[in-house]
Amino acid sequence: MNPNIEPKDYQAKAGCLKEKVILITGASDGIGKEAAKTFSSFGAETILIGKNQKKLEETYKEINDLGYVNPMLHEMNLLKSKETDYMEVISAVENEYGRLDGLLCNAGILGSKTTLSQYKYETWKEVNKVNLDSSFLMAKHSLPLMKKQENASIIFTSSGVGRVGRAYWGAYSISKFGIESLTQIFSDELETTSNIRVNCINPGATQTSMRKEAYPAEDPNNLAKPSEIMNAYLYLMSDESLGFSGKSIDAQ
Ligand code: NDP
Repeated sequence: MNPNIEPKDYQAKAGCLKEKVILITGASDGIGKEAAKTFSSFGAETILIGKNQKKLEETYKEINDLGYVNPMLHEMNLLKSKETDYMEVISAVENEYGRLDGLLCNAGILGSKTTLSQYKYETWKEVNKVNLDSSFLMAKHSLPLMKKQENASIIFTSSGVGRVGRAYWGAYSISKFGIESLTQIFSDELETTSNIRVNCINPGATQTSMRKEAYPAEDPNNLAKPSEIMNAYLYLMSDESLGFSGKSIDAQ
């Protein structure tokens, strides 16, 4: 780890993820799709998780067309999945690759932009299930396989409203506060017992469907594209960040 490197300015070296196997949730669109393509372009083998097989196949095709190693696709609706589904996907990864070096828990939904007093409990549960529970369960069941590696990296996905609460962000904000805590607790527990580092990223305002849903009147041309925020993701996934754990960093 070079203390002088700002993760958002990190310039990854070609092939820095070669021989690494990385699982990405929410790889069918937005930031997760871009991360899948970027990790592949730096040599990783990827497992793509999403709820829509057709959209996952589009990501697969783009990676294939670019000539990178073909990913494994795994359709999984994180809103409906049970704990055993997480165990099954990790078991499939173990059978196929025999290793897991990286995990990017990126899938997320916005929920309602309304006051807490009007917030529907159903929506509350859905947002927490996709944004927080899925991150906990995927990480929990990845640990035994990741611990077999010399080192491994878990990245969770936070948000500005995961650090400071803001009116009308309801369950989304609360789920992201949970992500910040999940990062700190996993990191603290794993620090002395493993070589797994655990961090979270706040992507910052980025041109995606979720951002459009949150700010429909905003001009997307003023926002960063997913491809412009990948330095921090590459930093945390690559060996450059060995020893860097328990942090919440900004991608912009
Ligand atoms: P998108 O809506 O573009 O992508 C979200 C991804 O999550 C999609 O692949 C989507 O699948 C997947 N997903 C949603 N629900 C489920 C589910 N039930 N099961 C499986 N997969 C699911 O959002 P972003 O790329 O913008 O967001 C990525 C992450 O970044 C999120 O955690 C978000 O909170 C965070 N973030 C984004 C910011 C931004 O400005 N864009 C700012 C701060 C944080 P499908 O394509 O099938 O819908």
